[in-house]
Amino acid sequence: MAQIEIIKIDENNLENPCELKKLERAGKIIRNGGLVVFPTETVYGLGANAFDESAVKKIYEIKGRPSDNPLIVHFADPEDIYKYAEVPDIAEKIIKKFMPAPLTLVLKKKGNEFDSSCKLDTVAVRVPKNNTARKLIELAGVPITAPSANLSGKPSPTNAAHIMSDLDGKVDMIICGENCEIGLESTVISFNGDGIINILRSGYITRDDLISVGARIARPGTELIEQPRAPGMKYKHYSPDAPLYILSGENDRIIDFMSKELCRKTKKVGFLCFAEMLSFFADNKNIISISLGLKNDLKEQAKNLFSALNKFNELGVDIIYSVEPEKTGVGEAIYNRLIKAAGGKTIIL
Ligand code: AMP
Ligand code: MG
Repeated sequence: MAQIEIIKIDENNLENPCELKKLERAGKIIRNGGLVVFPTETVYGLGANAFDESAVKKIYEIKGRPSDNPLIVHFADPEDIYKYAEVPDIAEKIIKKFMPAPLTLVLKKKGNEFDSSCKLDTVAVRVPKNNTARKLIELAGVPITAPSANLSGKPSPTNAAHIMSDLDGKVDMIICGENCEIGLESTVISFNGDGIINILRSGYITRDDLISVGARIARPGTELIEQPRAPGMKYKHYSPDAPLYILSGENDRIIDFMSKELCRKTKKVGFLCFAEMLSFFADNKNIISISLGLKNDLKEQAKNLFSALNKFNELGVDIIYSVEPEKTGVGEAIYNRLIKAAGGKTIIL
């Protein structure tokens, strides 16, 4: 691919003519079939014109994404969803209450516009909360198909620097904005005919948020024996370069375990710890501690998770041990990403 354009955008000043001009240019690239990396509130996205089959195909090629794993189509305005998809009553309530939001709805398609949905009769739709993302979609004048801007299977990028190692030279433009406010991919939900909702992927919008607007949620936990409900579920995800183990147990047992690891001097060990543990191994060169956040601050943990995994990749550690987050509220999504990144490996202490 020819010269890649890297632009910096002031996300707090988007109506400034200078910033608008940059986004207009980015929108034009998308409209004309190019690929643009852009910030969202969840993770950085790799965007293409959702109506352009060959542009969408390039996303799959660049990411090495399996061709049967459909992509999310992003709109600037919740009203646009109704043009392309059938919206059941409960979905309408959810749209009215939350959108724009880090939330994706899998809905029945009205037409056949989107190749990103892999010939399914449904399409996944989202209206991002991040203003830069919505402005870009508006200026592109077309919906934008976008997965996370990383190679398939790797941790998602939550700041512009993460993108370079995976995608440099492979896209037309990278828009560098702020660090992603939420840091985890959107919650993905689908609708059964009988008004029951399946949570296909947990995220910042939680089970309780959905229940608060009257949603009835299907019981989770059967996907391991059934066909995966979201095609994306069957693939390896979020994995750092080094093997990752989750340590399940009280803080003092975790510190004990890590102290013993110190004796095995041949390895450079990454420790994804709670903020309260950060000082324990500060003087030791073999253990690199990165804080996930305070034990009771799930929002901070969501924001830090991928950034920490990407940092361990950068530092080239040999093995990573992680604390186990609470599994309630947003913790459900953090744990979901972490256990996939670990390939299910947990050490019970
Ligand atoms: P990503 O692009 O990596 O953020 O992933 C989008 C998620 O939404 C993946 O888990 C997809 O499998 C899922 N998804 C997208 N479209 C559909 C659809 N039409 N039906 C079910 N799941 C979908
Ligand atoms: Mg992804």
